[in-house]
Amino acid sequence: LKLNEEQAIRKKLHNQIEEAKGNIRVFCRCRPFSNYEASAGHTTVVDFSAAKDGDIGILTGSSTKKIFKFDRVYTPKDDQVSVFADASPVVTSVLDGYNVCIFAYGQTGTGKTFTMEGTGQNRGVNYRTLEQLFKIVEERKETSTYSISVCVLEVYNEQIRDLLATEPTSKRLEIRQASEGFHHVPGIVEAKVENIKEAWNVLQAGNNARAIGSNNVNEHSSRSHCMLCILVRAKNLISGECTQSKLWLVDLAGSERLAKTEVQGDRLKEAQNINRSLSALGDVVSALANKSSHIPYRNSKLTHLLQDSLGGDSKTLMFVQISPSEQDLGETLSSLNFASRVRGVELGPVKKQV
Ligand code: ADP
Repeated sequence: LKLNEEQAIRKKLHNQIEEAKGNIRVFCRCRPFSNYEASAGHTTVVDFSAAKDGDIGILTGSSTKKIFKFDRVYTPKDDQVSVFADASPVVTSVLDGYNVCIFAYGQTGTGKTFTMEGTGQNRGVNYRTLEQLFKIVEERKETSTYSISVCVLEVYNEQIRDLLATEPTSKRLEIRQASEGFHHVPGIVEAKVENIKEAWNVLQAGNNARAIGSNNVNEHSSRSHCMLCILVRAKNLISGECTQSKLWLVDLAGSERLAKTEVQGDRLKEAQNINRSLSALGDVVSALANKSSHIPYRNSKLTHLLQDSLGGDSKTLMFVQISPSEQDLGETLSSLNFASRVRGVELGPVKKQV
């Protein structure tokens, strides 16, 4: 009984803290200069002097600077461990029955995949999340039992593709309201996983399936949303209470606008669909941040899929990824403006540079 009371107190405290802070967080992460940019002598437009306070300055001209405010600002020196340390309380709240959605937004090449998936030893949020979930499940085994499953989806051209299905290319999937209130995709493969190794293998299988049928894997991934869903079914052994919750980890399509001359035929349709889904996501999250009475989830497959993990008492974390380079200034400003809108706050003041 004591443990049960402790859990209730912990949840209440957690709720109070979250209520005070709101359920939408935006973290801004800037990638390092690439070797090419460094050797070409490109200059930086980013000022990290107030990064500790969540402020990032963007030099928009020789004497002007725009300040944007976020919940966290990461410099290129901040590693995967420190980024995950900040994201960890949000992701692990899925084990306490909350729905969670984490997504990485930004221009192609700014580190969305680096943040979510990571590379080699530099594992990202996806791996670290699963690792942490299994660790907590083990720690809580005296009081709770958990069943964890994963789904891996891709949304490309407003079509959902199940990357764990045996025939991933042919299926056209639709979203339905499940009986228990969840939105889900009937027939989607849910792989039950018992430990981090199994979970990682499933993710790799999903990743491999992504490449099937596309000539250029990198181009294809920058134009589709890669969506990992972790489903948690929990039973509290003391109270007997059962809960179901979802955690979405999403690596979004690149947010860059293509040059008008470049866009024709299939590329035009692709670009329009990316635009549509990213602006639908911005509309939904900013409607939530502004406590609007109508939340337009139905405007894209992406937001429709995420519906039960955006809003209500669910928690949302957005990584806005940017490039430090002067060459990308236009896209950087556009991403930061988008992220500020998502956070439900107005733009920071334009300051004279000192
Ligand atoms: P995106 O998914 O936005 O297209 P990537 O994740 O593929 O971008 O990143 C582009 C390149 O920059 C990759 O080689 C990646 O390893 C590197 N990179 C991005 N962010 C970081 C970082 N914070 N630290 C080190 N390398 C990074």
